Amino acid sequence: GSWYTVKSEHGNFIECRMKGKFRIKGIKSTNPIAVGDIVDYELEETSDTVTGTIHNIHERKNYIVRKSVNLSHQMHIIASNIDRVFLLVTINNPPTTPNFIDRFLVTAEAYGIETVLVFNKIDTFDDPTLDEQLYLQHIYENIGYKCLRASAKESKGIDKLKEMMIGKVSMFSGHSGVGKSTLVNALEPSLHLKTKTISEASKQGQHTTTFAEMYDLSFGARIIDTPGIKGFGIVDMEKEEISGYFPEFFKLKDQCKFNNCLHKEEPHCAIKKALEKDEIAWSRYNSYLKILEGDDENYRTDSYDE
Ligand code: GDP
Ligand code: ZN
Repeated sequence: GSWYTVKSEHGNFIECRMKGKFRIKGIKSTNPIAVGDIVDYELEETSDTVTGTIHNIHERKNYIVRKSVNLSHQMHIIASNIDRVFLLVTINNPPTTPNFIDRFLVTAEAYGIETVLVFNKIDTFDDPTLDEQLYLQHIYENIGYKCLRASAKESKGIDKLKEMMIGKVSMFSGHSGVGKSTLVNALEPSLHLKTKTISEASKQGQHTTTFAEMYDLSFGARIIDTPGIKGFGIVDMEKEEISGYFPEFFKLKDQCKFNNCLHKEEPHCAIKKALEKDEIAWSRYNSYLKILEGDDENYRTDSYDE
């Protein structure tokens, strides 16, 4: 609706309305304001109510969007000012493919949001699964992504995770079933999130809301809960842009002979050379080609799921 709950600098909640029209540079969005926004407001007190009027939205550090459900040519801002997203990865159950991880990372890079990979369910690993997990971790740590290993079920890795969350706004993403709710429950047992997808929840006859909410956790961290979202929104990008969102490609691409090199069949391509020397992982290159060669729909790293 047109009311927004604002948390004041004193920690209390005030129901606020918007004053005037707000336009966000660069995008057409159906909602002027989103969870995570920092706003200025004025109090309006009557004898028995205290409400507020929002008259300014501070510039956003970043924001994530999806297509509007009703107006497909417009965007809906899901959340803003996100410091970190934790992508939960499971090797087998359910499988999280390198391709999914890479699409997610490309989207997060394009949004300007740091991703930390959390390999969950380590308590279930047999030797081959452990090898596979460590191999993936090696690939991603090599190119600069922080990785954690966790068992949400056995509360392993939780302290390290908490440490990374303190003083920051975090989000949790990953396929349905990777352990997002279990993990958040291990972080803060009193909190029950709506991370279950809408369809799962409605099957169980639960009342759900489709908007995101921010929660303050007891150890000084904040999380944004986005019900029904397994992925991370969408980004439209040009072919030439894509390799810029692969950090290990980005470092080398100035060394390609052609400055519009797409790193496919072009001669003297620094990325192909690095690939042949095993300095770039084949799984990453294959993900790159898939994003590059996808149809229009796939160009977008469309990991949003309703
Ligand atoms: P979500 O859909 O991402 O929120 O996933 P859930 O938190 O609902 O977890 C899906 C299933 O995986 C549940 O049966 C959990 O008990 C289980 N699960 C979650 N984390 C772990 C873990 O670290 N180890 C094991 N063995 N099971 C887990
Ligand atoms: Zn190249």
